[in-house]
Amino acid sequence: MSVASHTVPSLASLDHTHAAHARSWVDSGAGHGDFPLQNLPLGVMEIDGTPRVVVAIGEHMVDLPAARDHQALGGLTPATVAALGQPDLNAWMALSAAERTALRHAVFALLSADSDFARRPAPVRDAVVRPRDEGRSVLPARIGDYTDFYAGIHHATNAGRFFRPDMPLLPNYKHVPIGYHGRSSTIEISGSPVHRPQGQVRPQSDAPPVFQHSRKLDFELELAIWISGGNPRGQPIAMDQAETAIAGFGLLNDWSARDIQAWEYQPLGPFLAKNFLSTVSPWVVTSDAMAPFRAMPMARGADDPQPLPYLQGAQGSGLGLDIALEVTLSTEAMRARGLEPQRLSRTNAAFLWWTPAQLLAHHTSGGCALRPGDLFGTGTISGERPDSLGSLLELTQGGRHALTLASGEERLFLQAGDELRITGRCERKGFQPIGLGVCSGRVLD
Ligand code: CA
Repeated sequence: MSVASHTVPSLASLDHTHAAHARSWVDSGAGHGDFPLQNLPLGVMEIDGTPRVVVAIGEHMVDLPAARDHQALGGLTPATVAALGQPDLNAWMALSAAERTALRHAVFALLSADSDFARRPAPVRDAVVRPRDEGRSVLPARIGDYTDFYAGIHHATNAGRFFRPDMPLLPNYKHVPIGYHGRSSTIEISGSPVHRPQGQVRPQSDAPPVFQHSRKLDFELELAIWISGGNPRGQPIAMDQAETAIAGFGLLNDWSARDIQAWEYQPLGPFLAKNFLSTVSPWVVTSDAMAPFRAMPMARGADDPQPLPYLQGAQGSGLGLDIALEVTLSTEAMRARGLEPQRLSRTNAAFLWWTPAQLLAHHTSGGCALRPGDLFGTGTISGERPDSLGSLLELTQGGRHALTLASGEERLFLQAGDELRITGRCERKGFQPIGLGVCSGRVLD
């Protein structure tokens, strides 16, 4: 789903690394749907049992410590050079925005078609640029703290309707970014198994609760926002600095047990219904790579409140994101019959009521300290249409209307063997499209 009318360029941050005509000497990068030369996302891959900081290019990866050792990256500060040798991206996230941009430029120079490095001896090239299937993706960062927001306004309205039919969108929603502090200990990398949680539920409102496996296991389609620069406690990050404190973006599935949620969520919000697992995609698509795909913030209506001054900078609410998002489901029966995964939903990050800068400015406004490697979830992103909803709770109207799949099977919530895949793609006229990769998980029960 393209929301082209919402899209604006952020010309100030565009440079030669965004040029649509730029090509890499690494053949698999040419026209790659997710990782062409213009993307250059960072991740961590375990190679021969050791986690290493890498950059994806097509079906290959640049082993950054190897590139450093072969003097293939120029113009880096000592802190950047040191960050490349770490087993995670926390030190890279702690760099300044200028240092992170300089690294992008160095990797771009290494990979571009006219690179001197392309003429180095083959053994050197092969030590630095390797097939990605020689490694295994692991979590990109040691996640210190995880906060899940609720910034998808259509989801907030739809979900609110199921839990509170009389007042779907609470009166605070358009004034204050809503979120809660989640667990970082149970955030795992895409592909990790999904075990159905047990918990306390109350199936009948006139009967006592019982402890059982969740029967309403659901997904939530969200974006991940990786935090870079931290702030000392008591020193908020203002709107105009907020973007420099964002390292990049990914995909997030906030697996949810709706029956546990319905019983436990009042008065303090989600707890065990959401702390059994959240899954993130492996690649941190940098703020630099996303520059061409920023969008105007969601339009506010004439009756909607304007954000309070601390949520507006010199450029108002900051920039939103134009990322086309999709989620597919494949069941065990579908795979056995060779059926393609079925698309459940197509939506767009443009349906976030609050911009990333507003989420960050709000989070720190009371004095809360963020640290490099912290993670935000945006909240479930749904569109307005029935085929653009970001959870089964919404797609089945609260578990009342089953989805019929291509296999003839029906689903209200997830069953054993079900595999969810979230993907994200950025397109804008005049620019090379890029993707965010995949965030997947299979329910094993
Ligand atoms: Ca969520």
